[in-house]
Amino acid sequence: MKNVGIVGWRGMVGSVLMDRMQQEGDFGHINCQFFSTSQAGQPGPDVGKGSSTLLDATDISALAQNDIIVTCQGGDYTKAVHGQLRSSGWNGYWVDAASSLRMNDDAVIVLDPVNRHVIDQAIDAGKKDFVGGNCTVSLMLMGLVGLFRNNWVEWVSSMTYQSASGAGAQNMLELVHQMGELATCQHAGQTALELEKLVTSKQADADFPCDQFGVPLAGSLIPWIDRLMDNGQTREEWKGENETNKILQTKTFIPIDGQCVRVGAMRCHSQALTIKLTQDLPLTEIETAIAEANQWVTVVPNDKPQTIQQLTPAAVSGTMKIPVGRIRKMTLGPQYLTCFTVGDQLLWGAAEPVRRMLLILLGKL
Ligand code: NAP
Repeated sequence: MKNVGIVGWRGMVGSVLMDRMQQEGDFGHINCQFFSTSQAGQPGPDVGKGSSTLLDATDISALAQNDIIVTCQGGDYTKAVHGQLRSSGWNGYWVDAASSLRMNDDAVIVLDPVNRHVIDQAIDAGKKDFVGGNCTVSLMLMGLVGLFRNNWVEWVSSMTYQSASGAGAQNMLELVHQMGELATCQHAGQTALELEKLVTSKQADADFPCDQFGVPLAGSLIPWIDRLMDNGQTREEWKGENETNKILQTKTFIPIDGQCVRVGAMRCHSQALTIKLTQDLPLTEIETAIAEANQWVTVVPNDKPQTIQQLTPAAVSGTMKIPVGRIRKMTLGPQYLTCFTVGDQLLWGAAEPVRRMLLILLGKL
């Protein structure tokens, strides 16, 4: 059995990873040690193998005892430890949820239902660093890989509706705290406009809880995610194009651009996509290619009852489903397609590609 060190297991992504590993019986395939940057020496989780003690996640020699390290700890941790560990001569596999290594030439961005061939070639070539992709990118590719595989995509414009969880656990807590504050504005018998006035005034209160987002998200939205790039994109928008092309290993770069927006959903990201197709294809052929691309994607018919039941964060949250709907040709012309997709950004957007990469390295997938 391989020795696997797990770092970041008690964070939000790490907790989802731990749940999935327990659900799927993954701990039965490994000898595992748990690490922490702040709780070394304290009891670790019992994953059916008895009690364990947490090791120091900055102890290079302890980390180096493992064949594989899986980390959901974050980019700062990766930057601080990965280089030191490699410099010490450690040649194991590093599997990471953070973004810091993603664009390194030596690192592979993993999303095996989409790029299993890239992963297999990299393992054969002796590559050792495997990194989960940006959540929005992974969710878009899980839904649309059928189109990319057929070389039907000339370019994509993506408009996103991203959940609070993508900003971290404290932001999710703050969103619901904000909702609670707004709910106190309700009084019996008031009109909608009276309520709206109180809500707007509450959002402007100096003590309205905004420490994480900086502004109200409940009852509003924030058209900005991550930091500004030189070209006016945000880094989240930049990732959409650059990570997608790296994951797919495209021979001809596919332009992908749009606007990334934070909305008041809890843990599902949604995206409205405009796609310029490389040719005029019948809609049935497009829908079949989308639906048959993997076992998690489903095509939702373009009607109101099924769309509002199946194609929303509320319907998808906590599941592995990747519904794609609102599929139609646009009035812009026969090569212009629009669709809408939703996915859980903590599952397919973060923990699941990392979990599956571990299974690939163990020869279990
Ligand atoms: P997180 O919840 O903040 O957890 C990170 C670490 O914080 C934990 O492993 C834990 O490490 C420490 N921590 C301190 N106080 C804690 C507490 N009260 N409860 C739990 N952990 C606590 O981070 P995350 O959102 O999971 O993100 C981890 C990495 O995944 C980041 O690089 C992020 O960019 C990436 N990622 C996140 C998402 C997302 O949706 N959030 C999606 C894709 C990728 P110690 O045990 O060492 O103290």
